[in-house]
Amino acid sequence: MENSKEVLRIFELQSDVENLNSLKNSSANERITKIKSILEYILNPANHKLIAEALFNDLHKSNEEVITTEISPLILTIKEVVKKLKSWMKDEHVPSPITMTGMSSYIKYEGKGTVLIISPWNYPFQLTIYPLIYAIAAGNAVIIKPSEISSNTSSVISAMIKELFDENEVTVMQGNAELATELLKQPFNHIYFTGSPKVGKIVMTAAAKNLSGVTLELGGKSPVIIDETCNTKNAAEKIAWAKSMNSGQTCIAPDYALVQETKLEEFITAFENTINKFYNSDKKGIHSSKDYGRIINKTNFKRIKDLVDKAISNGAKIEFGGDFNEEEKFISPTLINNVSMEMDIMIHEIFGPILPIISYKTKEDAIKTVQQLPTPLAFYVMSNKKSNINYFLNNTASGGSCINELMLTSVNPHLPFGGLNNSGIGKSNGKHSFEDFSNPRGIVKRNWGSLKPIYPPFNSKIFKYFKKIVSI
Ligand code: NAD
Repeated sequence: MENSKEVLRIFELQSDVENLNSLKNSSANERITKIKSILEYILNPANHKLIAEALFNDLHKSNEEVITTEISPLILTIKEVVKKLKSWMKDEHVPSPITMTGMSSYIKYEGKGTVLIISPWNYPFQLTIYPLIYAIAAGNAVIIKPSEISSNTSSVISAMIKELFDENEVTVMQGNAELATELLKQPFNHIYFTGSPKVGKIVMTAAAKNLSGVTLELGGKSPVIIDETCNTKNAAEKIAWAKSMNSGQTCIAPDYALVQETKLEEFITAFENTINKFYNSDKKGIHSSKDYGRIINKTNFKRIKDLVDKAISNGAKIEFGGDFNEEEKFISPTLINNVSMEMDIMIHEIFGPILPIISYKTKEDAIKTVQQLPTPLAFYVMSNKKSNINYFLNNTASGGSCINELMLTSVNPHLPFGGLNNSGIGKSNGKHSFEDFSNPRGIVKRNWGSLKPIYPPFNSKIFKYFKKIVSI
């Protein structure tokens, strides 16, 4: 009841026509000023400390990981938006067909209106502020519901937004699924959701009731293929980095590895050596490394442990790692072999530092495995053979792909980022995000002449000419 009253109050405040029109008609400079205020806030050392402390308390993130994965992407995004916003906002003049002689046509990018952002807990600062920057850039009012699970970061976000924005522009509402359900009853012009495919379906169903637009940034099982031609040590190093960052709680982390059988032993050894080099160089154990994170909460810890326990009881084998400490929510980077596609660990997204490895003989076998699962958010190929790379790309689909690299599908603002079906709907990044939060309003303007000649009563001479110009 409390929730529903407050949701309605904020939604109505933001959706007031005059409010939305003033945001929609705000200049690029006005929007840039607001976006820059976020940059200044983040760059302030005292605020940086608060953000880093919150992320440490939520996820045991090291300050270095906070800088590389939470703060830097936002700084780069803001700089890109500040540089490009004027050109993105410009009316885009387009050609007109011969039947529109005497008219000009253009696209006017307008804010959609009131936008809801629902964000997850894994990169809780970055994944909340990132869509916010683009929603503001496009001229919208925004309600944010960050994850209740990363509560320390959500509180920091709430304090920051209160300091920088009026409620009618941007408001943070903190709460769980119950609050999200209340919010989703409102006829938002657009909903930007980042989270699991399961909740994504709930969001899309609710959005359908109001015909609200949606962007769904979801997850899934992203494979990495290690073929017979790649430098295994190099591949293992990159995979170990991608799988252990944030304790594997990354939407674009490789979920499982398909390793060409001749490379299997080499890969396992190289992965183990790399993890020890990353987190155990002092031989005090990975759990004492300040650079290694923790699982967000005990529910997720138990979920991941359960996947591993069940796999082992069904015949899977731990090749490396397998250390679990519930009190500390610690799971060491783990390689698990002898898995089958029927096991839960190969059905559900792992979202933790466990890497199942499946060896394959031929590239056709590898692809058959990938094709058994829904379209992933990312698909990675580690190979030095062009024909293999092409084969793997041509016979799969994914939101994005990296070749001989991992995790970088979201970094280049010129590339669209997002999934396909089960891994998401809609694309983000740079101009893609600006367009996602905009209504590209098509406008036709008559400059001279008229369509009178084709109005009734019809004139056969005119129609003969009309048919000629459209080649009927
Ligand atoms: P989640 O789907 O459980 O929760 C995400 C958000 O939805 C939270 O704010 C939560 O409070 C809210 N929510 C929960 N139940 C809801 C309901 N019934 N109705 C409406 N909202 C509800 O996801 P999570 O556990 O926070 O994050 C992990 C998932 O997110 C993984 O699947 C991961 O792959 C995905 N993810 C995707 C991206 C991406 O960019 N594609 C980025 C990060 C995480």
